[in-house]
Amino acid sequence: MPELPEVETVLQGIKPLVEHQVIRGIVIRQPKLRWDVPKGLQRKLLNQKIIKLERRGKYILFHLQLGTLLLHFGMSGSLTVLSKLIDPKKHDHIDLLFDDFYLRYTDPRRFGALLYTEGDPQDHPLLAKLGIEPLTKAFNGEYLYRKARSRKLSIKQFIMNHQIVVGVGNIYAAEALFLAKLNPLTPANQISKVQYQQLATAIKQVLKEAIKKGGTTLKDFKNSEGKMGYFKQKLNVYDREGLPCVNCQQPLKAIRIQNRATVFCSTCQN
Ligand SMILES: [Zn+2]
Repeated sequence: MPELPEVETVLQGIKPLVEHQVIRGIVIRQPKLRWDVPKGLQRKLLNQKIIKLERRGKYILFHLQLGTLLLHFGMSGSLTVLSKLIDPKKHDHIDLLFDDFYLRYTDPRRFGALLYTEGDPQDHPLLAKLGIEPLTKAFNGEYLYRKARSRKLSIKQFIMNHQIVVGVGNIYAAEALFLAKLNPLTPANQISKVQYQQLATAIKQVLKEAIKKGGTTLKDFKNSEGKMGYFKQKLNVYDREGLPCVNCQQPLKAIRIQNRATVFCSTCQN
């Protein structure tokens, strides 16, 4: 599943290509994604210039002259830049046509979305309730501590709640909790302000490292038929059940929190 770092990488990859370009057409072969692609979208987008690209959570916002296109990759979505139109394969659902290239949206499981709004996109029902961005100054230990005051749920559930902060998926939650030496089961309201400062720093660190790693795939976008990358990074705990902790060599433990596998070191994370 594309996580925030992958979406950010795609954004950085396509930004120099699509900003200030005019949409010359859109081909929708399969409108049934997680939500239906809006009817009449072709007509609405035609000849609109893309003013600016922006990421909000895991959405890419294409700010156009008269509205905003919202793209989400769902479970399996991806974008490919094509220098010339080639025959679509089975899961190639949408093409955006520009003067010199094409953007092709592929999504085998069809949990992604392509939506359009003429209002303020931040008021769109899918974006309005999103929590703050983890890579902003506003996201810090003070913020987390304040939000956690009356919350007894586990710290892992707390930081994975998109109404608190966006983009902390299962991998990044596990890795950040390891770096901050916090047990994933600790109730959110029992964590000190100092620990929250360490956790906020750790979350930023794991996300930034992933984005940096993703940046190495960027060159693919500039090739004629570049496809967005799903990248693996060096992980300390995620998916390492039973393997030795990189700090203390004790075997890592796996538990389930909210039905998600959660690996941690019961010695280091207390
Ligand atoms: Zn350990």
